[in-house]
Amino acid sequence: MTPQSVLKEYFGYDRFRDGQEALIGQILSGGDVLGIMPTGAGKSVCYQVPAMLLTGITIVVSPLISLMQDQVTALKDAGLPAACLHSNLDQQAYFETLDAVRNGEIRLLYAAPERLLTDAFLSLTESVAIAMVAVDEAHCLSQWGQDFRPGYLQIAEFLNLLPRRPVVAAFTATATQSVRDDIRMLLGLKDPLELVTGFDRRNLRWIVERPAKKYDALLRILKRNKGKSGIIYCISRRVTEEICSKLCADGFRAVRYHAGLSAAERTANQEAFLRDEVQIITATNAFGMGIDKSNVSFVVHYNMPKSMEAYYQEAGRAGRDGSPAECTLLYSPQDIRTNAFLIDNNESENDRLTPEQRTAVRQKDHERLQAMVRYCSLTDCLRHYILGYFGEQSPTHCGNCGSCLAETEPVDATVPAQKILSCVFRVGQRGRRCGTKMLCDILQGKDTKQLKEAGYQTLSTYGLLGDISRIQLEHIVSILISRGYLVTDTGQYATLSLTTKANAVLRGQETVQIALPKRDLKQTKREQQLANMPDYGVDEELFQKLRRVREKLAAREFVPAYIVFSDATLRDMCNKRPQDEDEMLAISGVGKYKMDKYGEAFLEVLRAYQEVSPTD
Ligand code: ADP
Ligand code: ZN
Repeated sequence: MTPQSVLKEYFGYDRFRDGQEALIGQILSGGDVLGIMPTGAGKSVCYQVPAMLLTGITIVVSPLISLMQDQVTALKDAGLPAACLHSNLDQQAYFETLDAVRNGEIRLLYAAPERLLTDAFLSLTESVAIAMVAVDEAHCLSQWGQDFRPGYLQIAEFLNLLPRRPVVAAFTATATQSVRDDIRMLLGLKDPLELVTGFDRRNLRWIVERPAKKYDALLRILKRNKGKSGIIYCISRRVTEEICSKLCADGFRAVRYHAGLSAAERTANQEAFLRDEVQIITATNAFGMGIDKSNVSFVVHYNMPKSMEAYYQEAGRAGRDGSPAECTLLYSPQDIRTNAFLIDNNESENDRLTPEQRTAVRQKDHERLQAMVRYCSLTDCLRHYILGYFGEQSPTHCGNCGSCLAETEPVDATVPAQKILSCVFRVGQRGRRCGTKMLCDILQGKDTKQLKEAGYQTLSTYGLLGDISRIQLEHIVSILISRGYLVTDTGQYATLSLTTKANAVLRGQETVQIALPKRDLKQTKREQQLANMPDYGVDEELFQKLRRVREKLAAREFVPAYIVFSDATLRDMCNKRPQDEDEMLAISGVGKYKMDKYGEAFLEVLRAYQEVSPTD
């Protein structure tokens, strides 16, 4: 068999995606690899395909039991011999798995890193040949990353104990150089092929909203995504519970997920979500690593996360099967303070760090938070900013983000910009700093208690911008932040200060050209724009019929629906309307094994539908 035929036969795909073929080629020729690909790009295929072709088994090191189980379920369902070893298995199941491995019945063995150095596991490696060790979520090796996991450091030790060194293949979605260096060094990769694929996820629509009332904004998002599956990320356990209760009271079926819940409730809620029994889950960032659910259609961040890395990873759980999906961040300046507090009080498991290292990490965290704040303040193309952050060039207009979709008009904002900047300067002259709200209050000549207590009504800039709307004023302040004329302090109060770049504007050497949202654009019109997702032109009635078949089969097999076939696969069926086995095998995501198992049930529906509603 060739990599191509494995891909077709087991996974049902015709073509490799960006980077997959090169990584697989290197593995098959015996070389190490380091694959850096964004969530949803298709990392697993890069080790699952060669695992079927190499002589000897592949060990996949994976951080979470749920992740392993999900992958093993999906692999078995596609006819690939896979198993996992973890602490939740009872003794009997554990030994049965070991036996199956010894008897050559397993090609892919998933294990937590802490398993590797146990006696049972080491003795196993004496009796079976290990062709490859694949390290999933390899950034867990790095203390600089967000998910440091000491157990991952044992992988190198394990490799040293093996009679023959296998190919080592590491994969992560984290692209920063220091994390990459750590992975290479701590795993002892030998001259690896290092491959970074494009970070763009074109099917994801990026939106930032700065609503006065977040919950109302959330309801609008749920309305335009009615009937679809989504995750709502919240900054704390408290907010997670609060939003979940509110939604339930408002008639939505939602469950919650955070580390403070009992293990039983967590598992039950996660399962209900994976199996489409509920469509909404509110969660802290504890939820998601290893969630492979491919039909998540929207991810809302109820609060700003701590970094672009975290944001891209969490939001990236939407649209994994390539279907159009929405990622919306609901921002308020309060989120800066909360995040800054979390950074400064983070006494995490990073106790291996010296005080100096810890200070350095904290400093880095604040810088990452800054970049996140700039994203939230952006009025230019969001995708362009994201890709730029991850070191990629891209057009300045993507056509599929909140900024690109907004109806705007070009405005010369040099004068208001100068007034804003000089107001910050005047406040600074008094040895003070203020945040966006106070700044706008001053410029609009407001009469608040705090303003008067601070004596700001005597500033020369007091009331200078009373003639423009509050929304427009805040918008321009946002732009000045996102373009680097102003910087928000992430210490405690999100106060603003000038950068050196501001001088050119203040001196009139530089103009500020911006696009302002059209004043007369009604909320309803904007909603229509956002609800209008790129249409793949599927016959909705047929799609629903196929979904019902999928649900039945999933219940019969005790697996989540997306394991049977992804939404993208059902959509392909709607478009191509296969009528026999050969045509069915040409559908993306239908391999031989799944054809035999599920194909006929879908063909029946497709044939009947063709009778009553023929194409052309
Ligand atoms: P990652 O681990 O990088 O987040 P996955 O390996 O889970 O991504 O893959 C994401 C989705 O893309 C899965 O549904 C997978 O089946 C699909 N996929 C992977 N490779 C291909 C391919 N060559 N063609 C079509 N779909 C693919
Ligand atoms: Zn854009």
